[in-house]
Amino acid sequence: MAGIFPVDVGPQYEGEVIRKGDMHVEFGGPAAKFKFELATLKDVGEVEDQKITIIGPDMGEMTEGSSHPLALMIDVAGAKLEKDMEPVFERRIHLYANYIEGLYHMNQRDEIWIRISKDAYKKGLNSLEAVGQILMFLYTSELDVIEKIAITFVTDPKKVEELYPKAKEVYKARDERARGLKDEDVQEFYSCALCQSFAPTHICIATPERIANCGAISWFDGRAAFKLDPEGPVQEVKKGECLDPIRGEYSGCNQLGQVKSMGAYDRVYLHSAFEHPHTSCGCFQAIWFYIPEVDAFGVVHRDFAGPTVAGVPFSTMAAEASGGRQVEGFLGLALEYLRSPRFLQADGGLKRCVWMPKEIKERYKEAIPADLYDKIATEEDVKNVDELAAWLDKVGHPWVKGEVELPV
Ligand code: SF4
Repeated sequence: MAGIFPVDVGPQYEGEVIRKGDMHVEFGGPAAKFKFELATLKDVGEVEDQKITIIGPDMGEMTEGSSHPLALMIDVAGAKLEKDMEPVFERRIHLYANYIEGLYHMNQRDEIWIRISKDAYKKGLNSLEAVGQILMFLYTSELDVIEKIAITFVTDPKKVEELYPKAKEVYKARDERARGLKDEDVQEFYSCALCQSFAPTHICIATPERIANCGAISWFDGRAAFKLDPEGPVQEVKKGECLDPIRGEYSGCNQLGQVKSMGAYDRVYLHSAFEHPHTSCGCFQAIWFYIPEVDAFGVVHRDFAGPTVAGVPFSTMAAEASGGRQVEGFLGLALEYLRSPRFLQADGGLKRCVWMPKEIKERYKEAIPADLYDKIATEEDVKNVDELAAWLDKVGHPWVKGEVELPV
């Protein structure tokens, strides 16, 4: 497809990683405080088909090696489209952007990180206009229910910051809608294989009480994605027999794991970090990690820059957890899962949590049992596991005092 576009386009470029030294520019990532992508369903009359808008400097005006904020907004319209499908279109950005030679896309929502390589820039991928044209081509050729599509790139830092709260509101509303339904209320879960390009044995399973690792696919989103594209990366999973209601083991998920991982594993616990934990790809929002010295867990999110209480930062742990393997005690997950009543219930859930960054503690305050809130340490309370053990004794953390009973 290099004849139509300045660079080649196709699934063969999925999994292509662009190192810092090879990038021309990057958007989002840790260097940009404000970044997001958002898909919005509009009425047919509201969308000017194939329109690309760039607000702020384009790639040609950016210096080599620089980082920029970005709002990537996609408007779609079509008689058969439903509001529920917005997150599905949004998650397709990850898939289609990674089809572009010399473009690397990671994460989702307000955590996106996009790099353009020097080689691709030299070949002519030197404007966001070209990126938009390729994305629109892929959307309309793969999803024929889209009647109209328009893409807006905002790189003006002030404008991205101004638009950011609106995107956060949309994410919040989607997450709130997904709460309430229970795993036992449904007969099918949804699997997503979008990240197999980076983690070939990985498959995410979204249930009503377990949002997928990236935080972008809830059970409702999975249902909408499957309805939209039954042959696509999101598939329906018949639960089958419930083999362990506490750990969340289902015969249907075990069979799926065995097939999709090509036999690398054949059992999956949806709600435990031990024995047969859910696999982790690379897009997870946070890592739930075991701290053997206190036989408890900590959680750290992608944006936490400093070392965790275990002495290593998120990036080191991510390398350990990712790749589609089952790694006991290291679980990539979505932060929204912290709010689930079934959050890793087999292991004690949040009652066994002893450390988390202050930002997460404040953001998820209402999800943490009130009597536990002051007993979870942050980076401001302790710097290492020795200090942590002493601190937990001092505050009387219920897990350390042996007051938490595991469900049986
Ligand atoms: S993290 Fe999971 S749900 Fe999200 S895109 Fe990757 S495979 Fe799909």
